[in-house]
Amino acid sequence: MTPRESPQSDRARIAETFISVQGEGKLTGVPSWFCRVSGCNLRCTWCDTPYASWNPEGPTRDVEDLVTEATARLSPVGGGGGVRHAVLTGGEPMLFDAMARLGRELASRGMHVTFETAATIFRPPSETGCSLMSMSPKLSNSTPGSGGVPDPRDPTGAWATRHEQRRLDIPVIQALVDAYPDRQLKFVVATQSDLGEIEAVISKLRGVDPCDVMLMPEGLSPPSRQTTNWVLDACMARGWRYCARLHIELFGNVRGT
Ligand code: SF4
Repeated sequence: MTPRESPQSDRARIAETFISVQGEGKLTGVPSWFCRVSGCNLRCTWCDTPYASWNPEGPTRDVEDLVTEATARLSPVGGGGGVRHAVLTGGEPMLFDAMARLGRELASRGMHVTFETAATIFRPPSETGCSLMSMSPKLSNSTPGSGGVPDPRDPTGAWATRHEQRRLDIPVIQALVDAYPDRQLKFVVATQSDLGEIEAVISKLRGVDPCDVMLMPEGLSPPSRQTTNWVLDACMARGWRYCARLHIELFGNVRGT
């Protein structure tokens, strides 16, 4: 047990677990076991998993139980078969000692572990067992009420204030970049005006390979041709990577995929 761990390190509220192909980023298409924790320190207005942020749900489960489930599909045949990739997502998995412990337990059993995080909380690799740190820093387009569109889930604006204070923490992103040799930075883009914000973030970071910077069009359905074109152009001009959402293309916006 690491010194930071609380008595809650063996249990977490889990919104869903499922097996699918990874839909985003470098490991797109790789069969993976997903574990989505309920609970987030942010409230993105376009959050595509509100059941793990705005309205957290799901049972509290033991880490041991989750390890048993995740490793059930490992195949001993040939030593490398089955579902060998685990994606710990949310919500915000870096919030929870139990998710860090789950990452370590799975890594110790030979699984490749990805953490999907908004990159506002640092934990070192020795705590997480993480092989790929998938960061998704949040732009101003994520704030409830952004663009003058009120969010009925935040009538007093309290979450908008908290979200603005927390959504972008350059020292934490830098610490994650420094600590995890395999990482990616995925930015959800809504309009071309987001590009300047992304450039400003990248300019404050050291050691980021441009092809680890990914632009992902915002939306719960495949992007229009027009959107795809300007996002592609922006990537081509900067050496960044276009990030599709394969699961949306294959299955639509459906839970458990
Ligand atoms: S950080 Fe992720 S889980 Fe949390 S509100 Fe934003 S999109 Fe949803």
